[in-house]
Amino acid sequence: MPSSTVENYLKAIWSLQGSLDSDGLVLIGQVAEKLSVTPGTATTMMNQLEKKGLVEYRPRRGVRLKEEGRKAAMQVLRRHRLIETFLVEVMKLDWAEVHDDAEELEHVVSDRLLKRMDEMLHHPTHDPHGSPIPSPDGEITQEGTATLADCQPGHYILKRVREDQPGFLQWLSELKLLPGTEFVLSSVNAMAGTLSLTLEGDKEVLEISNSASRSLLVVKVN
Ligand SMILES: [Zn+2]
Repeated sequence: MPSSTVENYLKAIWSLQGSLDSDGLVLIGQVAEKLSVTPGTATTMMNQLEKKGLVEYRPRRGVRLKEEGRKAAMQVLRRHRLIETFLVEVMKLDWAEVHDDAEELEHVVSDRLLKRMDEMLHHPTHDPHGSPIPSPDGEITQEGTATLADCQPGHYILKRVREDQPGFLQWLSELKLLPGTEFVLSSVNAMAGTLSLTLEGDKEVLEISNSASRSLLVVKVN
């Protein structure tokens, strides 16, 4: 099993690759920033990952995961998201406060425990934040979701919250804007940098900032 450091690098590269086209290389500086290490440290690690056959590293150009690296990243992501689901569904912890624990546990929970968690949860497909859980063989569904920031007024369902900060998640809880919630986006106020929305079955108009809306992935309801 790769070390937790290796696992964190693979996960970081995978998440940065998501914002690139399929031929894109992730810059070492971006990897270093994401993991709060120096570019020199990240470069040393890239050479090690390359030797292990996990990444394709082009000095001064960037890095991308090879198939083995992608599979390993998916295994960590699967562990992370299943653990978060277990902490919320079974241990009844608040969804806003499980990410940091999952960051630790994802590296130490055995395959045997993970399999049991998966069974107890009846093989969930999404974690409490609405993020898809990779299958045991490393497949992940990429749903056709847009961020709320890119949407026109209309009727939407919140599918996923792409933010781990407890404060942000608690704020969403207070608004009752959780994954699965339907709402009407009534107006986009470009000058003020805000959006106005009303939750299904509610009358109160909520104002949220444009920057917050970038962390909310939504699907249009007909
Ligand atoms: Zn998390």
